[in-house]
Amino acid sequence: MSRFFSEKYKKLVPYTPGEQPKDTQYIKLNTNESPFPPSDRAIRYASEAAHSLELYSDPTSSVLCEEFAKAVGVSPDEVLPTNGSDEILNFAFMAFCDKDHPAVFADITYGFYPVFADINGVPYEEIPLNPDFTINVSDYCGIGKTIFIANPNAPTGIALSVDKIEKIIASNPDSVVVVDEAYVDFGGESCVPLIHKYSNLLVTQTFSKSRSMAGARLGFGIACKELIRDLNTVKYSTNPYNVNRMTHAAGIGILKDADYTAKNCAVIMENREFASEELVKLGFEVTESKTNFIFAKHNDIGGKTLYEKLKARGILVRHFEKPRISEYNRITVGTRHQMQALIQAIKSILEEEK
Ligand code: PMP
Repeated sequence: MSRFFSEKYKKLVPYTPGEQPKDTQYIKLNTNESPFPPSDRAIRYASEAAHSLELYSDPTSSVLCEEFAKAVGVSPDEVLPTNGSDEILNFAFMAFCDKDHPAVFADITYGFYPVFADINGVPYEEIPLNPDFTINVSDYCGIGKTIFIANPNAPTGIALSVDKIEKIIASNPDSVVVVDEAYVDFGGESCVPLIHKYSNLLVTQTFSKSRSMAGARLGFGIACKELIRDLNTVKYSTNPYNVNRMTHAAGIGILKDADYTAKNCAVIMENREFASEELVKLGFEVTESKTNFIFAKHNDIGGKTLYEKLKARGILVRHFEKPRISEYNRITVGTRHQMQALIQAIKSILEEEK
């Protein structure tokens, strides 16, 4: 740390992204990326946009907003595109949290929430999930704080039904409820239709998972016009050109290829069921995932040991050194071939452990 680093950031513990080692060609099942490339059209549009990179991107993202709004059934002034959904989440902490509006989220959820809270000087409370990692809805009813719920949750993969989330939203009319739907396209239920009923709901979505665009960085906030206006105030006060030209173009391209996205999601869900069943046959406990990852533990081998042994065999999964989940690994669902390689590797590791 330099002597110039601001006092207010000295205690900050940054988010740790999944490792991206360059030493070996790993089967990469550790950052919940799609195993499929973006659609041909997305790639073509992005390449064409590269010819105009001397120009700033459209700060209003008008064409992209229209396409996305159409896709999710809202109007263009009810959406705001950002540099990955991490940016819209950060904007939400900036816009809707402060000392008088502390944040609240689960003890086991997306690890960036406490980091966003800390960097914005926002006090926060972590509410323990039930022992089976489900959310106890009544914990959040009438809590009167800015609520962040990843639905489906990460890294557990477990989804909450929309009617339960609606209870939370309805019982907190004076607080914003942020529903992070990064993984909603893999079998979850979206809260987007509720934005027309509740002025305190912000839904966030990403193009990083189901739409194969993690490297392009594109996310969205979806909410009533007033909340979107507040978030735009934050955006125009930090980075008006937050979505670059190539990402705009790729985003429009992938939205026009909804069938391609739907087909990929269906394959990933099939592979998830295949791999989950195989893992259960091998003695794993697996949560009921509605995402593109599996959260699994085995009584005969520690979470960290399994992670290390898989890495030694060229397969990367994500292990979290967190008390309640240190025996688990989060395994991104890849192609059928990758899932077969994973199962084979685990079989041989379990043999070795005997
Ligand atoms: N929310 C959750 C629950 C996530 O797991 C992630 C991915 N790390 C994100 C948001 C952010 O994804 P991105 O910034 O790539 O849209």
